[in-house]
Amino acid sequence: MSEILRAEEVHKKYFIGKRAVEVLHGVSLSVQRGETLSIMGASGSGKSTLLHILGGLDRPDAGDVFFEETSLVRMKPPKRAAFRAQRVGFVFQSYHLLPELDVLENVLLPSMATRRRNVRERAEHLLEQVGLSDRMDHRPTELSGGEQQRVAIARALMNSPDLIFADEPTGNLDSHTGENVLHNLFDLAQAENRTLILVTHNEEIAGHCQRELLLKDGKLEE
Ligand code: ADP
Ligand code: MG
Repeated sequence: MSEILRAEEVHKKYFIGKRAVEVLHGVSLSVQRGETLSIMGASGSGKSTLLHILGGLDRPDAGDVFFEETSLVRMKPPKRAAFRAQRVGFVFQSYHLLPELDVLENVLLPSMATRRRNVRERAEHLLEQVGLSDRMDHRPTELSGGEQQRVAIARALMNSPDLIFADEPTGNLDSHTGENVLHNLFDLAQAENRTLILVTHNEEIAGHCQRELLLKDGKLEE
């Protein structure tokens, strides 16, 4: 196994007016390639903040995150944008699909930032994997929540990212639909040997991951 991602003493605080809210208080973490990892923690404990920092969407106040030994903090903005576009896939609780695009176009969107070929075949393959072959020309508003999230999963995998981050991906779904969506996510991640970091409130879901972590008082516990 080889390390793909490492966080070292990550700190993050927000200011609300003049009052500082310490969210992350020295988070360190080493993630191996191909690993599946869950992060649990109370609402407001900083899970989303941590995920955004690990995926290069946000920067820590102190500490650093290394992707294959390259510092995300010291990376210049264009390079960090390319890192996010090509190496990282995000699935959010609220899907974040573009309403004016159809399902196929939503999945194709990340490939616009690459020179990858055969993107249409890839998008169609992923939509088939999540059981939406017959919904490709639908708009997101014409789909159920579970279907929208499956589109978001296909989109997150479009560029074959090394890292997949899922932030409470089943938070808006009933438990049966959520299970199906998670099966899609785990199956796809595993089939392509991707690294999956999953934030969830659900202990059973967390139990499907190889490692379970708890974010508490600004720190991670194994
Ligand atoms: P979680 O995902 O675990 O629910 P978050 O990472 O979203 O937690 O938020 C952690 C804490 O930081 C919360 O108290 C939240 O209110 C605060 N917070 C998050 N984002 C901001 C922001 N942009 N400005 C100020 N406070 C924020
Ligand atoms: Mg959150």
